[in-house]
Amino acid sequence: MDATEIDHLRRKHRAFFHSGKTLPLEFRLQQIAKLCEAVKSRETAILAALRKDLNKPVVEAYGGELGVFFEELKLIRKKLSSWMRPKRVPTPVAHFLASSHLYPEPLGTVLIIAPWNYPFQLVISPLLGAIAAGNTVVLKPSELAPATSAVIEELVKSTFDPDYVACVQGGVEVTTNLLSAPWDHVFFTGSPAVGKIVMQAAAKHLTPVTLELGGKSPCLIDTGVPIKLTARRIAWGKFFNAGQTCIAPDYVLVPKNMREELLASLKEVLVEFYGEDPEKSADYGRIINERHFSRLTKLMEGASVYCGGQTNPEQRYLAPTILSPVEWSDPVMQDEIFGPILPVLEYEDLEEAISQIQAHPKPLSLYFFSKDTAKQEAVLKRVSFGGGCINDTLMHLANPHLPFGGVGNSGMGRYHGKYSFEAFSHYKSVLNKSFLVDIPLRYQPYKGKDGLVKRLFSA
Ligand code: NAD
Repeated sequence: MDATEIDHLRRKHRAFFHSGKTLPLEFRLQQIAKLCEAVKSRETAILAALRKDLNKPVVEAYGGELGVFFEELKLIRKKLSSWMRPKRVPTPVAHFLASSHLYPEPLGTVLIIAPWNYPFQLVISPLLGAIAAGNTVVLKPSELAPATSAVIEELVKSTFDPDYVACVQGGVEVTTNLLSAPWDHVFFTGSPAVGKIVMQAAAKHLTPVTLELGGKSPCLIDTGVPIKLTARRIAWGKFFNAGQTCIAPDYVLVPKNMREELLASLKEVLVEFYGEDPEKSADYGRIINERHFSRLTKLMEGASVYCGGQTNPEQRYLAPTILSPVEWSDPVMQDEIFGPILPVLEYEDLEEAISQIQAHPKPLSLYFFSKDTAKQEAVLKRVSFGGGCINDTLMHLANPHLPFGGVGNSGMGRYHGKYSFEAFSHYKSVLNKSFLVDIPLRYQPYKGKDGLVKRLFSA
């Protein structure tokens, strides 16, 4: 699509939005029901597309894509009418006689841009939130997951009025054209580097953005934890979707005297998960494309491979790999890994580990394994990160009552459940004044009113 065609599409969406059709609760619930049916009736096609793009096992496709969407859908259907109601807030006595309310209103025409790693969920969950909040939506799925993007396009075309929800396919050129239009909101999921491009383009129109980005999410281990269980939860979170998860544990920080035991447990767990040869396992994913495959294999060059490291370029197979020992200056510690390579670093005391995390950009997630509540509190208070878990990995994303989003370099804004409704809404502040009473204090002339005004507004 060129810039002219995109502008034409946006104008149609604007007209649809201004018609007021998206405002009633009934309309929104109807569209949500249509979306739900459309997804359910295409479940087989969606699962097949995810298998084709990423060799995604059904359990991972359900757990990480469809299941997350259905959970959120149930919550939104149940709560939408209450979220849409104006919220009364207190009014100071100086405003007598008045009431104050927040009126949620849709932002308008929304553009949603998605990445390839959860190519279904990262399109459909923001779409659900945007529809619930009463917006029109243009979706731009990832060109790097073509099978899933094709299912999404077909689903959108056969479910929605194209002036209300449309799907535009394409890569950098099309996304650049989309970003040049004055949308009312841009919701972007992807890398911090492209997030900067999106924000710059949006700034030209003062379009607000939600940026769901990535980064290096640490797994911090304390002494005294059950090692095997810790290793199992870390390995599961890391190698789910072959490590191509924005909130995957990027690296592990373990006390020096526990490193050997952790490494042995991780190795054991990997055999339990995938057998002696993970390439033969139906439960292990593949790398999305050749570019990412060669980027990842380069990260292993010269590194100390504790286990894994095998590759098959034809299949874009990269074995679950543990690296140790690893230094902060190693290539694998410079950027988000976004693949099945897990560096394990050691530390002497917790204070040192906290300082090392603080010295790097704020991560999207942090996972702290500890039985000590004082240490849990200390880490939560002192380290800034988007969201995370104590004694687990990834699971915070699967609770629709927890907002999901980054901080600093890992993003801005948050969504899921009620927070999706809020992300795609503006809360209009309105003070409603009665005609019954009219205190003359505020009117000119002000002579003789100084003292009373000061008393009324003193702290
Ligand atoms: P990406 O930033 O390369 O691409 C994301 C989208 O932006 C795609 O639709 C792509 O077409 C478009 N795009 C790419 N380059 C562009 C450019 N120069 N100008 C305009 N648009 C452009 O990200 P990716 O490789 O698809 O996904 C991986 C990244 O996404 C990782 O950093 C990961 O952590 C992050 N991610 C974050 C979340 C989250 O929820 N926070 C979820 C998944 C992935």
